[in-house]
Amino acid sequence: MAAKHCLMVGAGLSGAVIGRALAETGHRIDVIDARAHVAGNCHTERDAETGVMVHVYGPHIFHTDDAEVWAYVNRFMPFRPFVNRVKATTGGAVYSLPVNLHTINQFFGRTLRPDEARAFIEARADLSIADPQSFEEQALRFVGPELYAAFFKGYTTKQWGCSPRDLPASILKRLPVRFSYDDNYFSHRFQGMPEGGYTAMVESILDHPNIAVTLGHEVRREDAAGYDHVFYSGPLDGWFGHDLGRLGYRTLDFERFTANGDWQGCAVMNYCDETVPYTRITEHKHFSPWETHEASVLYREYSRACGPEDIPYYPIRLIDEKELLRRYIARAGAERGVTFVGRLGTYRYLDMDVTIREALDCAQRALGAWERGDPLPAFSAPPI
Ligand SMILES: Cc1cc2nc3c(=O)[nH]c(=O)nc-3n(C[C@H](O)[C@H](O)[C@H](O)COP(=O)(O)OP(=O)(O)OC[C@H]3O[C@@H](n4cnc5c(N)ncnc54)[C@H](O)[C@@H]3O)c2cc1C
Repeated sequence: MAAKHCLMVGAGLSGAVIGRALAETGHRIDVIDARAHVAGNCHTERDAETGVMVHVYGPHIFHTDDAEVWAYVNRFMPFRPFVNRVKATTGGAVYSLPVNLHTINQFFGRTLRPDEARAFIEARADLSIADPQSFEEQALRFVGPELYAAFFKGYTTKQWGCSPRDLPASILKRLPVRFSYDDNYFSHRFQGMPEGGYTAMVESILDHPNIAVTLGHEVRREDAAGYDHVFYSGPLDGWFGHDLGRLGYRTLDFERFTANGDWQGCAVMNYCDETVPYTRITEHKHFSPWETHEASVLYREYSRACGPEDIPYYPIRLIDEKELLRRYIARAGAERGVTFVGRLGTYRYLDMDVTIREALDCAQRALGAWERGDPLPAFSAPPI
């Protein structure tokens, strides 16, 4: 097979991982990103004032059950052990998340054992809701009114900018409560932090003689001419100039402040009360517990509707957005020479490990298709 010349739009995990896999099989890859740095939304950099490694676009914790993906990331940057233990402030007290046996006992002033706690919560669940339709109904059905009001209602309202009554039940898929003292936020086998930060890891992925990286350049549809294929990890609607309308996102604002010593005692503190305008505070130095810094830098995180000039963070994916998404999917299917990839290209929330898994699979599918002379699929994974 003759070497292909491909364009990766975006130097986030999607563009870097697909680019690397194709470069290693002899193809020539141009990676172009509009931002001044690689790594997309998991970009990390040293805070100039404190020297702390900060997660510029919000806290990123790597966690996965996928042994191949875990080996992949460790190949490019050693990972240090890190367990995410999130705390929550609500009603003037601090609890541990996800809601677990300690949270339940502390909140209700009990000393329940696991089976007792299960029965206790079941007794509070609203069993009259046979078929929960909304997030609120689902939460009331699972955990009852007290835990819902304290831990879910205010936080969800702030995060999504609407009442949990107007959100689908599917957002709260499983019972969001543990009947043990396990306060590890994630339950995956592998969890950690890249020793030198995510950006250094992505730079290492992109460090290959067949890959050329250009930063600070926004790619447009016209720029695709001349390439054998384009892998586009920007917003799906952006590729088409938003001509059918804009897919809805939530964006985030980060308010930076500094302190001396240890300001909050943990990496992430959620604020569940609706009266507190931010959703959480991140103290970045706790993400690198192997480093020592006297000074500390923290971000207060606010969530709001995403405007045309804002960074799109979380796809909304409610009924209206899904309808518009279907129309863009049809357009993408008619496009030739482009595969839409990653969280923005497929308009889905994707954790980093899933992004890497899909990117590795996408590259393998591309190689197979080229070998057979077949066209490449429009998407790295189905958006719906
Ligand atoms: C607040 C927040 C917290 C998160 N926390 C976690 C976590 O704890 N753990 C976890 O596993 N995952 C987390 N994630 C998910 C993680 O950020 C994604 O999995 C990952 O960033 C997806 O990579 P990507 O390459 O698909 O997209 P992105 O990282 O968004 O990269 C896309 C890149 O494309 C560039 N681009 C777009 N359009 C153009 C264009 N036209 N021309 C040039 N460049 C363009 C952008 O500048 C960007 O750099 C979090 C996400 C958010 C929003």
